Amino acid sequence: MKFLIRRIAIGLAGLGTFWMLGMINSNELLKSGVLLTSGVLGLCGLCFLGRERHTAASRIATSLYLLFFIDAAIKGFLRDYFGLRPNHVMVLQAIFDTNAMETREFFIHNWHMLGIVTLTCTFLVILALLLQRGCQQWEQSPATAPAGRKTRVAALASLVIFLGLHFNPTMARENPLLFWPIRYNYYQQQQLSLQRMQHEIAVNMAPRQDWQVHYDGEAQHTVVLVIGESMNRVNMSLYGYPRSSTPLLSARRSELIVFQDVVSPDATTLPSMMKMLTSADLQHPALWQSQPDVLQIAKEAGYKVFWLSNQYIGDGWISLTAQHADTQTFINHGSGRGENNLDGNLLEHLGNALSDPAPLKFVIVHLLGAHPTYEMRYPANFARFDNADDAVSAALKEAGRSLWVRYQRDRYDNAVAYNDFVIDNLIGRLAAQRPEHAASLIYASDHGQEVGHYRDHAGHSSADPSGYEIPMLIWSNRPISQTAQEKAAIEQRPYQTDALNHTLLGLLRTRSSTYQPKSDILHDEFQPTPRFLDDRPYQAQSEPSRPQ
Ligand SMILES: [Zn+2]
Repeated sequence: MKFLIRRIAIGLAGLGTFWMLGMINSNELLKSGVLLTSGVLGLCGLCFLGRERHTAASRIATSLYLLFFIDAAIKGFLRDYFGLRPNHVMVLQAIFDTNAMETREFFIHNWHMLGIVTLTCTFLVILALLLQRGCQQWEQSPATAPAGRKTRVAALASLVIFLGLHFNPTMARENPLLFWPIRYNYYQQQQLSLQRMQHEIAVNMAPRQDWQVHYDGEAQHTVVLVIGESMNRVNMSLYGYPRSSTPLLSARRSELIVFQDVVSPDATTLPSMMKMLTSADLQHPALWQSQPDVLQIAKEAGYKVFWLSNQYIGDGWISLTAQHADTQTFINHGSGRGENNLDGNLLEHLGNALSDPAPLKFVIVHLLGAHPTYEMRYPANFARFDNADDAVSAALKEAGRSLWVRYQRDRYDNAVAYNDFVIDNLIGRLAAQRPEHAASLIYASDHGQEVGHYRDHAGHSSADPSGYEIPMLIWSNRPISQTAQEKAAIEQRPYQTDALNHTLLGLLRTRSSTYQPKSDILHDEFQPTPRFLDDRPYQAQSEPSRPQ
């Protein structure tokens, strides 16, 4: 038994070193540690079933060290290179969709980082082997001593535990031998589902002549659609939040149409965006297969279409749709901590799109907004509400929200404040265009976020209205309403963004067979329709019962 405990200690010390170097996270350390421990107990223990065979057991331990250490090194390298966990679609795509040329260039380009990782791994493996050899000399057990009954039972039980762990999918995924085959299988499934989507579209899509697209706007026209992420309007001072979370947009209030009663069709990104950008809506969720999306219609109308994104590539339908743009810019990948990429890094790309000479431009800007993890969405100077002692924190305490949710609320509001800076800047760049060039910007979040508004929870929520109650606003250098009364009336219109494609086509001054003026929030013929959140009828609350 002492033999096994020493081998486990060596293995765990090695994994612990990878953890201390930041190459694996605590979660991976825990899972790999459990697997390594049960592996040593079960597999090395096998050698003690008959006669004790220390040499064989030591060899198995060595193989396990090699396997787990190399696995940790690979994870560490991928984390450093992509800034993401290796089961991220983008990482898998990069690994499984490469060719010999790309691989060669990759090794040439990254030899420095690869060298450090290889050296670290080799050093730890050699250290583990030396320690093991030290143990062996010290143990000097007779190679032929018969194993006791207790030893045999313990060895068998450990083996059963080791194999049993693999029935838990999360643990099985962490086995270094199964890690990449399972990922490859998952990636193949993703690719298949994408191919199925492409097939559905190819089979069902209405022929181009049936789209009946025509443009009736000005000769020079730019429309920017900013798709926000996880933004709840209740947390914006533009909508009356007691914390000054959107000072810049509030200062622009008179230039903006600020819609007061808009909800998203879903509480997660993909289903919501499918309905925002296509004819699909809550009643007809499959229409994205047979009707063109707004990018395709805009292109048909003569627009040059740009897709600028701070979200990752490879999100199924979203990546398919982005391909309909003339140019695609995904900034959230490559070296460094890509996942932490700030939305502000998209600003210069909007600048480039705006200076493109095309007379008609449709620019889609897809933000990371306030997606969890909140504290990764803003630079340090936007940490304005950390540990704030104000009306909001008092209301949250009063409502019995936990310290954790209050902590999350402060970080969420910081992300809202940074989003204010980004949207204001996007509008500023558009406003700097020549006045003879018609320009509009519409901002709507894909869905909301529950951060202690209704319950002790922080994150996406399809159960609470906060998961759907989103901000939506329009800025334009052309008048949208004639009088203040008219503007106020438009702002009060109840809307659900599964109909957003109609408002977008209206802004694009593009008519098509799919366009319905009654679903265009800016149109005189607009008619409100019943709204549903996860199949529950929705009515805006006049007196919010939630803590602000
Ligand atoms: Zn989202």
